[in-house]
Amino acid sequence: MVDLKRQYQNIKTEVDTAIQEVIESTAFIRGGKVREFEDNLAKYAGVKHAIGCGNGTDALQIACMALGLQEGDEVIVPSFTFIASAEIIALLKLTPIFVDVDYDTMNISVEAVKKAITSKTKAIIPVHLFGQCADMTGLTKVAKDHNIFLIEDACQALGATYMLNGEQKSAVGMSDIACTSFFPSKNLGCYGDGGALFTNDDELAANIRQIANHGSRVKYHHDIVGVNSRLDTIQAAILDVKLPHLDDYCKARQKVAAKYNEAFANVKGLDITGTVENSTHVYHQYTLKVTNGKRDALKAHLAEQNIPSMVYYPIPMHQQKAYENERYVSVEGDVSAQLSECVISLPIHTEMTAEENEFIIEKVVEFFD
Ligand SMILES: *Cc1c(COP(=O)(O)O)cnc(C)c1O
Repeated sequence: MVDLKRQYQNIKTEVDTAIQEVIESTAFIRGGKVREFEDNLAKYAGVKHAIGCGNGTDALQIACMALGLQEGDEVIVPSFTFIASAEIIALLKLTPIFVDVDYDTMNISVEAVKKAITSKTKAIIPVHLFGQCADMTGLTKVAKDHNIFLIEDACQALGATYMLNGEQKSAVGMSDIACTSFFPSKNLGCYGDGGALFTNDDELAANIRQIANHGSRVKYHHDIVGVNSRLDTIQAAILDVKLPHLDDYCKARQKVAAKYNEAFANVKGLDITGTVENSTHVYHQYTLKVTNGKRDALKAHLAEQNIPSMVYYPIPMHQQKAYENERYVSVEGDVSAQLSECVISLPIHTEMTAEENEFIIEKVVEFFD
């Protein structure tokens, strides 16, 4: 699905040197490189503060803690997503309210969000799914109207931009706190686990740093309950080498996706992903809907040609055993469940050649002929 080895080969000297420098400095935890990378990341994203942490899941959990969400508070989250966004809500004894998504874009449905709001609603966690921002124009308005927090799950969308009320914003710059992940296969991936939080609010930034550091601002003084969640210095050094390449990486993915879209737009039995108005798409995943019921057969057909494919996500949150008793709000039918039956993601990565791209297209198209 991705080719991290070829990507590494192209930046090997810089990465190896950066890692070596950290080892020789022995500043493995909270080394100077972490702050340096955080500053560069904040600048890149056009957000005042970027704060590294252990992984994207931790980032979401720390965000909910920093906003002071309390047991019983309702948090709205899309049902068609990766489990992390729901898991941290449950772990903090908050109440997840799953809402349906739009068929076209597969992102959270603003209509469903409106329908799900109660007097207990304290936050919405939109997920910028597969690399395309959710409808932030609609969501920021809903959040403002009801005085509730917005936490962006931008784990799949770092590098994407959105035109919000006439201003260009990054995918991590439109909410109280935004979260991203540096899991190796993400658009900006490190060589292990890593994540970051973003905020424009100085006090929230200080809270986030405190929570991520055992609830401590002064060593061995713990005024609040925290966690231990840090971005390793080695990972920060690797990310700092890769960050200047992120826009090119996104462009490379967009190029592959444009070829796919062109080839699949008129294939009977396939729906390509709809575009979100005002958003760019950085294609963390390239996802199609197979509308003739033959998704699994297509997957098998591709596997025969040694073409990998994945189903993101085979079971929506409201149908997962651990969450099946939670509230689920949809507007028309159950789009999340429908998507789980028909989506398929094709290989897409920064080093994919035109020949590989063509080969995959040929094998997909031939299946529908
Ligand atoms: C990857 C991902 C996460 C979690 O990130 P980790 O770094 O693996 O913890 C959360 N939400 C979404 C949408 C993701 O894709």
